[in-house]
Amino acid sequence: MAENPISEIAVFECDRCGACCRHLKLFGQAYASLDRGDGICRHLDPENNLCRIYENRPLICNVREGYKVFFSDMPYDEYIAMTVQGCEKLKALMKQEKEIPEQQLQKKHLPENAREENELRKNEIPD
Ligand code: SF4
Ligand code: SF4
Repeated sequence: MAENPISEIAVFECDRCGACCRHLKLFGQAYASLDRGDGICRHLDPENNLCRIYENRPLICNVREGYKVFFSDMPYDEYIAMTVQGCEKLKALMKQEKEIPEQQLQKKHLPENAREENELRKNEIPD
């Protein structure tokens, strides 16, 4: 099958959210050697979400170069759309993970808040 060329129209823009490098377990064995044990890549700088080996990152982390080797049988713009979709899912997952502790915190405080509110209401009711 003929290989599709890289289109300069479809451009992938990484916003450095770090969601992919923090969820390596989702990608199975392909990224296992990068996993520091908790699904986060050993090369990720947690302070700034940047790859410490960016210039020499593996092919599986390189959207443009990885296309040539693994995906060139599909049109480049489709590949970029698929990649962007994957990023959105990972971002949603990361957002969800951040929200869970907050929800737990709110639940923890709910009875206390509810009690306070009850007290206020009781005070509002005239004898
Ligand atoms: S999930 Fe996508 S946008 Fe976020 S760092 Fe990874 S490649 Fe970039
Ligand atoms: S090598 Fe770099 S780009 Fe690849 S997962 Fe690790 S931190 Fe992310």
